[in-house]
Amino acid sequence: MTDDTPYDLLVIGGGINGVGIARDAAGRGAKVLLCEKDDLASHTSSASTKLVHGGLRYLEHYEFRLVRESLIERERLLGMAPHIIWPLRFVLPHDKGLRPSWLLRLGLFLYDHIGGRKLLPETKTVDLRAAPHGDVLEERLVKGFEYSDCWVEDARLVVLNAMDAAQRGADIRTRTACVGLDRRGQVWLADLKDKHGETQRISARAVVNAAGPWVDGVLGKAMPEKQHQNLRLVKGSHLIFPKLFDHDQAYIFQNKDDRIVFAIPYEREFTLVGTTDVAFKGDANTIEISDDESAYICDAINEYLKVDVAPDQAIWSYSGVRPLYDDQSRNNSTVTRDYVFELDNPEGAPPILSIFGGKITTYRKLAEHALHKLPMPWLETQDAWTAGADLPGGDMEVGQFDAFVSDMQSRYEWCSADVMLRLCRAYGTLVFAVVGDAKSWADMGQDFGAGLTEREVGYLIDGEFVQTAEDVLWRRSKLGLHMNDAERKSLEDWFAKRGAAAAA
Ligand SMILES: Cc1cc2nc3c(=O)[nH]c(=O)nc-3n(C[C@H](O)[C@H](O)[C@H](O)COP(=O)(O)OP(=O)(O)OC[C@H]3O[C@@H](n4cnc5c(N)ncnc54)[C@H](O)[C@@H]3O)c2cc1C
Repeated sequence: MTDDTPYDLLVIGGGINGVGIARDAAGRGAKVLLCEKDDLASHTSSASTKLVHGGLRYLEHYEFRLVRESLIERERLLGMAPHIIWPLRFVLPHDKGLRPSWLLRLGLFLYDHIGGRKLLPETKTVDLRAAPHGDVLEERLVKGFEYSDCWVEDARLVVLNAMDAAQRGADIRTRTACVGLDRRGQVWLADLKDKHGETQRISARAVVNAAGPWVDGVLGKAMPEKQHQNLRLVKGSHLIFPKLFDHDQAYIFQNKDDRIVFAIPYEREFTLVGTTDVAFKGDANTIEISDDESAYICDAINEYLKVDVAPDQAIWSYSGVRPLYDDQSRNNSTVTRDYVFELDNPEGAPPILSIFGGKITTYRKLAEHALHKLPMPWLETQDAWTAGADLPGGDMEVGQFDAFVSDMQSRYEWCSADVMLRLCRAYGTLVFAVVGDAKSWADMGQDFGAGLTEREVGYLIDGEFVQTAEDVLWRRSKLGLHMNDAERKSLEDWFAKRGAAAAA
């Protein structure tokens, strides 16, 4: 059946780029529909290293535009969502035989200055023999540099953008795949298939193809007569170990192959280590770390940390593929991380804009550029508005987060301080909506373990597009890491019971 009222914009893909564009367009008054074939952030956008960063190493590839834009965005995003984004200090050891000390210093000088850094502290030299690094790093490492970047809860950043888009009127449909795209006169006809296998045909005056690793596939549906081979898929994997060191700074290690590997404090109890750059062919829906990648990551860490790690000590891993624009670079690490647009806009026919590459860090600016590029003269306003517009729960000053947490901990004394800290990090000022009128822990309903309660799950279902236990455990949160099998199963059972009750 055809819905006759066309959408102004159909966005295909609920990764960071799709939701960023949907939010921006909805805020300009567009009637937007976003479809995501799985859950929000199911693919690359929850598999990143989770850094809002300029990308220090891109300076070596002369990607100054990208680094500058990323550094400007770093502080902007920090201000828009200080609950899910926070400053992190990185320690870069100087190692004999690799990049010389003066080159590291020069790179970091540029890094400190080309992006208008205001909030974050500058680079300094550190003695690696002193605490807290002396007990952690190999004896040969004497001198290093400490610089700033930011951490981001990547999957939550996606969800907050989708929530904001929805609040501005966008129709966000998860577990809904675009299975057909056809130009008909002034509009696109799109077939959207939901999780029950039912297909609805909608019309839209413009399409954004933000399908990440599947962007060429979507182009194939829209223009089957042409060849579409613009993508270079580069797989990257991470391993998670029980804490490898007990302080709150991250390490960036130089590898002998000129790549870098991070070791980052993760989820209070763990260390996140990665990543790799491996050419990828195959089904991007089902990817996992290979033995070679695990060995590569462990070798890199063992070069630098006193403690030795082996792949079987890792408690979890995750992998993603970077949907990069194929610039014909020979090396997977040097393919541009910058974004590229392809606009198809024949006279008298509706446009489609495809997005290649990009980073979590640059999503907001990418969305602005995309809407500038996509001709939609019928929009209420063409003015960019998202710079500095807080994301849901982020309406507090940078630097006030700790005071906010203390306030919440004393207001909700019946909730453990650790759980309240986690809730504040996840939901920011929306913590009030999660806790609601609860006056005791018992009021929060069933306790699934690791501080997750029925009330929080209810909030996630009502407000954050959650449909399954997996959405809760691995994307809206990482509570899956903190729960045992029985606890995870109790949440799955709860969802199964709920589904059965709804079907009855
Ligand atoms: C290992 C690794 C580490 C990284 N680290 C960082 C980092 O630290 N910082 C940083 O800034 N960036 C980082 N990145 C880059 C960043 O993660 C990606 O650039 C970004 O997530 C890409 O987002 P996207 O929206 O284009 O793609 P995706 O997140 O993959 O989203 C595309 C979505 O489209 C959906 N889709 C596809 N086809 C259809 C269809 N027909 N109908 C409906 N939906 C469809 C998919 O299901 C998918 O969810 C990293 C990437 C990798 C792989």
